[in-house]
Amino acid sequence: MENKKYTIKCPECGADVEVSRPAIINVQNDPEYKIKVLTGELFNEKCPKCGQGLQVVSRITYHDMEKRLMVYFRPVTSQDELKTFDYEAIRSAIEDNFKAPNYAIRVVTTVNELMEKIKIAEFGLNDGVIEIAKFVYFDIFTKQFENIGVVNIYYERRDDKNALIFFCNDGQTRSIFIDPDVYASIEKRFSAVCKAIYTSRVCMVGRDWALRMIKAYSKLDGDKQEPVTDIKPELKLLNSDN
Ligand SMILES: [Zn+2]
Repeated sequence: MENKKYTIKCPECGADVEVSRPAIINVQNDPEYKIKVLTGELFNEKCPKCGQGLQVVSRITYHDMEKRLMVYFRPVTSQDELKTFDYEAIRSAIEDNFKAPNYAIRVVTTVNELMEKIKIAEFGLNDGVIEIAKFVYFDIFTKQFENIGVVNIYYERRDDKNALIFFCNDGQTRSIFIDPDVYASIEKRFSAVCKAIYTSRVCMVGRDWALRMIKAYSKLDGDKQEPVTDIKPELKLLNSDN
């Protein structure tokens, strides 16, 4: 495995910090790197001068041949970077270089998304279904907890079950189990698009993707109401994590 070297400035003391990172992780060759990504260890550095802990993100191509997962992590850390983020250019560059059938080929921009894609593949789930499930549960969550804002939602495995973790604006996180029946009904209803993202296409499967799919299906159904109206799971709130 070849490492790439980066130099960053410590925001605390201004010292140059040398960072050595793999640009490509192949899980079959370097299984320990899967753990390092999932724990976040790979992105944690320490300033040798002042000891300040730093999170340093770098471009990584993550490949798991067994799970048929290829994730291109192209970090976006500021609004300026977001403005110049050219997904189409990234996609066409990837398609020139990597072609494989029945693969999940994803582009992600944050460490959390990278971790989430790995976890979803680990448990044999479809990330399109998970993204749509987030909307279904967000909908009922906000009805039940009107005064609590949701900042982010991520997939997580909890107690051997599939769960969604809601990061809320009161500083708390709240876990909700994904009802297997809800998962199955989303998978059935959105079957065509959820299969299409596991071909050889490069996709960004996140919130925007799910919203586009839900809107498109609502139109097809002639549904002027809320999207995914026939899927109404019970809200099984596990615990309030601290
Ligand atoms: Zn420092």
